Amino acid sequence: MRKKQFKAESKKLLDMMINSIYTNKEIFIRELISNASDAIDKLYFKSLTDDSVGLSKSDFKIQIDTNKDERTITITDNGIGMTADELESNLGTIAKSGSLNFKKDNEEAKENDIEVIGQFGVGFYSSFMVASKVEVVTKAFGEDVAHKWVSEGVDGYTIEECEKENAGSVITLHIKEDTDNEDYSQYLEQYRLSELIKKYSDYIRYPIQMEMTHSVPDKDNEGEYIEEVSVETLNSMIPLWRKNKSEITEDEYNEFYKNKFMDFEDPLAVIHSKTEGQATFDALMYIPSNPPYDFYSKEYEKGLQLYTNGVLIMDKCPDLLPDYFSFVKGIVDSADLSLNISREVLQQDFQLKVIAKAIDKKIKNELKKMLKNDREKYEKFFSVFGIQLKWGVYSNYGAEKDGLKDLIMFKSSKENKYVTLSEYIESMPEEQESIYYACGESPEKIALLPQIEAVKAKGYDVLYFTDDVDEFAIQMLMEYNGKKFANICKDELNLNTEEEKKALDEKNEASKDMLDEMKSYLDDEVSSIKFTNSIGSHAVCLSAEGYVSLEMAKVFSQMPGGNQGVKAQLVLEINSEHKVAEKLFELFKDDKEKLKSYTKILYNEARLISGLGVENPTEFADMITDLM
Ligand code: ADP
Repeated sequence: MRKKQFKAESKKLLDMMINSIYTNKEIFIRELISNASDAIDKLYFKSLTDDSVGLSKSDFKIQIDTNKDERTITITDNGIGMTADELESNLGTIAKSGSLNFKKDNEEAKENDIEVIGQFGVGFYSSFMVASKVEVVTKAFGEDVAHKWVSEGVDGYTIEECEKENAGSVITLHIKEDTDNEDYSQYLEQYRLSELIKKYSDYIRYPIQMEMTHSVPDKDNEGEYIEEVSVETLNSMIPLWRKNKSEITEDEYNEFYKNKFMDFEDPLAVIHSKTEGQATFDALMYIPSNPPYDFYSKEYEKGLQLYTNGVLIMDKCPDLLPDYFSFVKGIVDSADLSLNISREVLQQDFQLKVIAKAIDKKIKNELKKMLKNDREKYEKFFSVFGIQLKWGVYSNYGAEKDGLKDLIMFKSSKENKYVTLSEYIESMPEEQESIYYACGESPEKIALLPQIEAVKAKGYDVLYFTDDVDEFAIQMLMEYNGKKFANICKDELNLNTEEEKKALDEKNEASKDMLDEMKSYLDDEVSSIKFTNSIGSHAVCLSAEGYVSLEMAKVFSQMPGGNQGVKAQLVLEINSEHKVAEKLFELFKDDKEKLKSYTKILYNEARLISGLGVENPTEFADMITDLM
């Protein structure tokens, strides 16, 4: 029999498939089952108006058989089948399979493109990734003759007449021999194949059946096992997310989550929604109770599983989730997307964007609801994932800040409990002008900062910023409901009355010579030294002037590559009411050498308090010992 040639483009794609370095070869089964399901759809719809079909819905099925000795996998459907012409045009040329346009766009097929193909439909030809020879025996509905199409790859295919009783197709893959790098035999294992079918085709609307062998206890011989063969339906057919909420128990939701996303804990929240409108999709999403085990590793990939009509097209579609919700797990099923590559490339972007936007909104609404109705749960959520939201406020130059600002919380000095920004503002005394915050390693350490005391004495609450990102995030926010943020270790706080302020200014003015002298002892380390009256009973503290706060300087200095030239402008503040102030004036008059030591000691104390550490601990220790 003369071999017919594949069309040029088909040959290219086929060649790519055969020599594929694409790692996800297993998807061939998804593609063939999806084709079978489409063919059944067509005949099923015909049966609704055409009695001659003679099949009812429950008669339709897809059957899988394996034969290890012959190394074959057979996929049988009782769908619409193909005529000789259809065989020719559907399988002989790729133009029909929709992959052509994709190919055109990607004339220079590279490894990446193969990844792209794998994410969408590669169609029938994907069988050549695992098979050295493919046979299709098919009979179109309403035809008398059946046909057999056979191909061993690029060098062409044959079509001949053959016998087949009923309409439908039987596709036989002759599985390749194993190589050093590839284990093709795995696909001949019942267990492996059934696992793949469950993974990719669980929600196909027709039963996918396979003979499965199980070891069962032998009734006649106790302690012995015998092999039992039975036909099993591998797919569950109805996706959980397609059911109505009212039909699903909490247990079902949780079990589904744990199985599907491999978590041993129940999720913290379930978001299940059906959306119609600009985009039509079902979504079932989960907020885990704890971060996924690899969440903080580079290997972690965010994304939702993307289905179209029950067929998985992508395991982790990253475009569906913003980074700040990267911990969310779930599934999106939309009929608006198709397996077909060419339409995909055109539509995918727009449709996906619409869906992604709707999803972002749904998750935010769920969190807002939780914050309002179940505070305890929200705080649990926030303690685990809150930092992601704060990064979200900061990222992309604050593009997302408005959607997230009501969801962030901080612990505060009043009760060391979480407060939202709006709660903070609500409980502010009337005269309070700004939202106060302080940075530090932990709430306990911040509570010990000298500056806290004076602010608390006024009855003001102070937000504790303990994560590196906190201050960057609020700098992005700039203000909340008209209230600016003020770092109590950096910004002018205006806590003093006019008189107090005047007295302090006068004191600083009068002490200028001494303070300048002291500053010269510290070289360029501080940009100024001044008296203060806002640090309670403590002697000294360090604050910063300008844009960069102490905490930010610390964060920068820990970045790879050092401090990137970003330095805080430090101000050494000395309590004007403290005894040490008097002592300084004495020394300025009588003993400059000692004034120098005192200055250095006070400066280093202030560094220690603010968590900056002492640069020369030996010198510091010696100076203190000398004093003793
Ligand atoms: P796609 O499914 O994206 O159209 P394929 O290469 O997988 O591309 O299939 C090409 C065409 O071959 C299908 O569109 C369909 O018309 C036909 N076909 C494939 N498998 C079957 C089948 N099992 N029964 C009937 N027709 C089929």
